[in-house]
Amino acid sequence: MATKTKADSYRPRTQLVHGGTRRSQYGEMSEAMFLTQGFVYPSPESAEARFKGEAPEDSFIYARYGNPTVAMFEDRVAALEGAEAAFATASGMAAMNAAMFSQLAAGDHVVAARALFGSCLYVIETLLARFGVSHTLVDGGDLAAWKAAVRPETKIFFLESPSNPTLEIVDIRAIADIAHEAGAKLVVDNVFATPIFQRPLELGADMVMYSATKHIDGQGRCLGGVLLSDAETIRGPVETYIKHTGAALSPFNAWVMLKGLETLDLRCRAQAQSADVIARGLEGHGKLVRLLYPGLESHPQHALVQQQMSGGGTMIAFEVRGGKEAAFRFLNALNLILISNNLGDAKSIITHPSTTTHQRLSEEDRQHLGISQGLLRLSVGLEDPQDLLADLLEALDQV
Ligand SMILES: *Cc1c(COP(=O)(O)O)cnc(C)c1O
Repeated sequence: MATKTKADSYRPRTQLVHGGTRRSQYGEMSEAMFLTQGFVYPSPESAEARFKGEAPEDSFIYARYGNPTVAMFEDRVAALEGAEAAFATASGMAAMNAAMFSQLAAGDHVVAARALFGSCLYVIETLLARFGVSHTLVDGGDLAAWKAAVRPETKIFFLESPSNPTLEIVDIRAIADIAHEAGAKLVVDNVFATPIFQRPLELGADMVMYSATKHIDGQGRCLGGVLLSDAETIRGPVETYIKHTGAALSPFNAWVMLKGLETLDLRCRAQAQSADVIARGLEGHGKLVRLLYPGLESHPQHALVQQQMSGGGTMIAFEVRGGKEAAFRFLNALNLILISNNLGDAKSIITHPSTTTHQRLSEEDRQHLGISQGLLRLSVGLEDPQDLLADLLEALDQV
């Protein structure tokens, strides 16, 4: 609930361990989990002041508005990201929904990249449309298309980079410039890149969202999300929207996420290093049509990767020769890597997008996005990369 911590000058790795900490009178080492819905006021005057918003910082009212454990999580992520403020939500989608519904009204227009997480696309294409907000979807890499999509009523640009599942890179700085010229705000879904390898606010974005469910938890336990921006936006429309509509993050989940943040840098770097080993180990394999990893020189947008990311990330996409049948034979031959649709986990996870996460799209839309029947998306975990590579190579032998 509160804004940025005092120790603003510490570097991100230090912030991940100490940022936002509030110690109770007991001086506990590990962050306290405040499992409370409400807060007791010492007097009616104090209750009145809190409801009027005149109480000192860190005075809480009700857990839907804020909670000390949740506030520690928000401040720690804000300190990591270099944002003025953050608001935590029950899931990544609650954050995305809040980014849109807190800032848009009937008659407004949104420009978004076509390659989006499925539920984000649903919010923009279906839900916003129902409330009179129109949209234009563009190919993320086509700067002229972003420019041409602008209308006088355009309020928000939305994109993710690298995109899901084909790991296409979108030029955040160039699109922020186009958005600002149009008087619109750029919202970036930074889940695939992670806050360790990409800092959208420094690239000109106005708002960043995370599904904390992914790398921030990193061990497959809890759902969570967070929105980061300037204090005026977070304390104004975002906080007002979330606190009255109910997508608050539970204090238990916030505590798990706080613990996840302490090791986020180490985990993301180790997972990215393994992803690099695996991508190089698979590249050029005769049974693959293509392999995409932002850290490889062969990635079609490698120059842009180097410009806006400080690492290749933890995700790899590759296409096996022989379509769905070959992809399924390959998946069934894996022993170590798990078939699931999550990502960013300590356990390596593989997904067949065309029959799962992107099943809802028409075949034509999938083709346009490069989501072929043989495409697989691998989230590299914390296992020994040689065991992962061996699992992949052995399974490829059976295709
Ligand atoms: C998972 C994910 C979301 C949604 O997050 P939830 O926590 O599942 O609600 C949004 N965007 C991207 C890129 C994701 O991977």
